[in-house]
Amino acid sequence: MDSYDVVVVGAGTAGMPCAIEAVAAGARVLVVEQEPRPGGTLHVSLGQLSGAGARVQIARGIDDSPEAHIRDILRINRGTGRADILRRTVPMQGETIDWLLDLGFEMDPQCPAILHLHEAYRVARTYWGVEGGLSILKAIAPQFERAMAAPNATLRLSTQARRLLTGPGSAVQGVEIVPVDGGRSERIAAGAVVLASGGYGANSDMFARLTQGRPLFTAAMPGSTGSGIEMAQAVGAAIVGQDLFLPTYAGIVSRPGDNRIVWRQMPSLTPQVRQPWEIHLDGTGRRFVREDDESVDAREHALNDLADLMFWCVFDDAVLEAAPPLLPGWTREELDQAWSGHPSFVTAQGVDGLAAATGMDPARLAASLTDYAAACAGTAPDPTGRRHCPMPIRGPRYRAVKMHGIVLKTPAGIRVNDRMETCRADGSAISGLYALGEAIGGATLSGKGFVSGMSVTPALTLGRWLGRRLGTQLAGRACA
Ligand SMILES: Cc1cc2nc3c(=O)[nH]c(=O)nc-3n(C[C@H](O)[C@H](O)[C@H](O)COP(=O)(O)OP(=O)(O)OC[C@H]3O[C@@H](n4cnc5c(N)ncnc54)[C@H](O)[C@@H]3O)c2cc1C
Repeated sequence: MDSYDVVVVGAGTAGMPCAIEAVAAGARVLVVEQEPRPGGTLHVSLGQLSGAGARVQIARGIDDSPEAHIRDILRINRGTGRADILRRTVPMQGETIDWLLDLGFEMDPQCPAILHLHEAYRVARTYWGVEGGLSILKAIAPQFERAMAAPNATLRLSTQARRLLTGPGSAVQGVEIVPVDGGRSERIAAGAVVLASGGYGANSDMFARLTQGRPLFTAAMPGSTGSGIEMAQAVGAAIVGQDLFLPTYAGIVSRPGDNRIVWRQMPSLTPQVRQPWEIHLDGTGRRFVREDDESVDAREHALNDLADLMFWCVFDDAVLEAAPPLLPGWTREELDQAWSGHPSFVTAQGVDGLAAATGMDPARLAASLTDYAAACAGTAPDPTGRRHCPMPIRGPRYRAVKMHGIVLKTPAGIRVNDRMETCRADGSAISGLYALGEAIGGATLSGKGFVSGMSVTPALTLGRWLGRRLGTQLAGRACA
């Protein structure tokens, strides 16, 4: 049986930096990646990062500290993130941004900034690349390639980790791997196995199982199947975060009948970027949210209260003519096709026609439109408290676009302690098994909320930290 000091499952956001550091520390490292190329979710992620104390932030004279960052995170997620792991990662996150910049990370010159896509921090500490997550990948990839070319490193692409191997006391002692094209499986002995295998945003069954039966509309990579979480569960690891789901507000399915969302086609629903000209109605025709609420967290929680995570964005031809584009990422051709056949895009004559086409209750829909018209005319306050009421939605031709609460990261994952050792339900650590990134649950740090940069940055930061630590501890233990 081949033997390594460290086996990293997944060459994505967390796995690549983990492997780079473990190899640099002198350990014999095997990286197993099921896709034919490394990078994982960095290929599609917006790649927003956050950290206090990066050189560029200091140079701009911005007053910040890891303690202030942690306080801000726990304010945004109402104390639902793991403070012990936040204290492990956040103090190193400024250094992670410096590391990326040293590797040639092409940062947007506006950074650091306060962003409003997620609930805003109080301090400018969010960073992103000119090409989103790809900019991070382009910075790390050459370093990863160099590490994998070292004599103490092996990279197995198009190879899947299938099962953990255990020994006395249920300690993890290796992993079974198999080529994805169906070749023979191999058993690999390991001093430590690191599950950096991502979330389960592409696995509807697992999503329903681990996320209280909520429907899945997803922008996750197809490889986010949760297989690492299942492997850990099979050797006794506890799963946490099942009750901490919050959808992102909001997306449109790209193809009829599909549950996938293409990020480029996200509607412009952030009031700080574009004030709403439409009204948002649940499946019955009721306004369920103040569309211009500056707090995206408040809008996400209102959407989370809808069992089907679905709403209609309703307007008419006059609004379409007057308003800035609701769908700036769609090409003219895509929009023409959508309005002439995509079931999420509805046009209808009159209120009854719109109710019939969307399944809304006609009386409730009519009341929502009348109340909003009164708010536009200034004759009555808007029932949701909305302030931006530029023009009534009167038809006669109405339009509605079906929106869904979407998944960027999955909340539940493998329980870990602050050394990233996987844990059983009684809190005891499973010897030899570690987890990083979304595999520990997107809610472990972000809690029931979205906190800018708090998936990608901890994945990179704790990946580096754990790789260095395991590499140093285990170097030379494996038999050649
Ligand atoms: C559209 C989008 C935008 C986002 N924007 C942001 C953002 O701006 N900021 C932020 O902080 N977060 C963001 N996120 C979330 C964040 O990108 C992810 O949570 C993070 O990148 C996940 O990193 P990871 O290392 O855990 O997993 P990944 O990067 O997905 O890597 C996991 C790797 O493991 C491989 N793998 C899985 N199972 C196996 C197996 N059994 N054997 C071998 N290989 C396996 C996968 O193929 C993959 O390459 C976004 C997510 C999406 C989808």
